[in-house]
Amino acid sequence: MRRLQLSTLAVALSLAVTPLSGQAAARSKSGATKSGTAKSGAPLRAAPEPIGVTPEMRIVAAHITANALRGHVSFLASDLLEGRDTPSRGLDVAGEYIAAQFRRFGLEPGGDDGYFQTVTLKPDDPDSPKSRNVVGILRGSDPALKETYVMLSSHYDHVGLAKSGSDPVFNGANDDASGTASVLETAYALASLHPRPKRSVIFVLFCGEEKGLLGSKYYVRHPVVPLEKTIAHLNLEQMGRTDSSEGPHLNSANVTGFDFSDTPKLLVDSGRRIGVTVSKVDKASDDYFNRSDNGPLAMAGVPAHTVSVTYEFPDYHKPGDEWQKLDYDNMAKVTQAVGIGMLRLAQAVTTPKWSETYPGAKPYAEAGRKLNGK
Ligand SMILES: [Zn+2]
Repeated sequence: MRRLQLSTLAVALSLAVTPLSGQAAARSKSGATKSGTAKSGAPLRAAPEPIGVTPEMRIVAAHITANALRGHVSFLASDLLEGRDTPSRGLDVAGEYIAAQFRRFGLEPGGDDGYFQTVTLKPDDPDSPKSRNVVGILRGSDPALKETYVMLSSHYDHVGLAKSGSDPVFNGANDDASGTASVLETAYALASLHPRPKRSVIFVLFCGEEKGLLGSKYYVRHPVVPLEKTIAHLNLEQMGRTDSSEGPHLNSANVTGFDFSDTPKLLVDSGRRIGVTVSKVDKASDDYFNRSDNGPLAMAGVPAHTVSVTYEFPDYHKPGDEWQKLDYDNMAKVTQAVGIGMLRLAQAVTTPKWSETYPGAKPYAEAGRKLNGK
C-alpha cells in the first residue's frame, strides 16, 4: 500500500476506529427485533442477523492456519530474497515459490508462461525490463457461473535493498508478504471444497506495486479473463501487524472504499460470523482507495477493494518490517473472514454493484456501466 501524505494522514489518524460496523451500529440504534420489523411494523433497513456458519464456511476457515501463514511469510521476507525489488532475482525466486504453491493446490495456470504473466514494465519502451505477475485459476463448478470470476490478489514485490547499512534488506514482511501468504492460504482453502465454488476464482500476485502499481496496470491492459466477467476483486495488504499507530488492531480489518460498492457490507457480515469486525476508518477508507492494486481494476469498472488489518504500522518501508513481528493467530482469523467473503462472492447468483449515490464512487460506477455496455 502506498502511504498517504502526512497532512492527509494526520486527519485520518485523528479519527477513531469505528468499533461497530455501520450496519451493526444502525441496527443497535434502530431497536431491531428478531422478527425483522420495527415497533411501527415498517420493514427495517438494517442488515438481517447472521445466519451462522455453514459447513462450507467451516471447511474454508479450518484450512487457513497461523502456521501455514508464518511459513510463507518467513520465506518470502527472508534476507535471501533481498527485498523482492521489481525486477530482481529475489522477486523471481518468490514468484517460483508462489507458482509451486499453486501447483500444489491444483490451480489452472493463468499466465502466458504457465502461471507467469510476463509484464512489460515500461509499456512504450521496446527494450523495457520485464517482470512477472503470478496467476492461478480455480475453475468453478456451476456450468453457467464458472464463466464468471471473483479475483483475489496482493503484491509480492517490495522495495529491495538499501545502498548501505548493517541491515540493508527491506524485508517487506507485512508489506506485502503477508497479503501474499493470505492469498495463498485462501486459494488452498477454496480449492479444498468439494464441489468447488460455483464461480471461478482467479488468484493474482502482482509485481511492481511499489514502483507504481505496474503489475496491476499491466493486468488491466492485458486481462487473463474478461474484465466484464470479473464480478468482484479483493486485494490484500498489511494483514499481519496489529501494532498500529492508530492503536492495537485485534480481530478487526479495514476495507478501502467502504461506501463505494456492495462488497464491503458482505465482508462486514462475513467477518461477524467468526468474530472479526470489518469496519470503516472514515477518511482513510476513501483516501487509500487508489493506493494499491485494487485501483487499476476499479478504474476499469470492476468493483474492487483493498482489505488490511492496519493502514499504518511502525516499520512501514523500513528494514525492520520482518516476519517475526507479525501476529499470525490474528492474521489467520482475518484471512478466514476474507475466505468466507470470497466463498460467498463465488457462490452468490447476485453480483456486487457500485454505489450510484456515494459521491466518491461516481467515476467507478461510470466505468462499471461502460464495462458492462450500459
Ligand atoms: Zn503494499
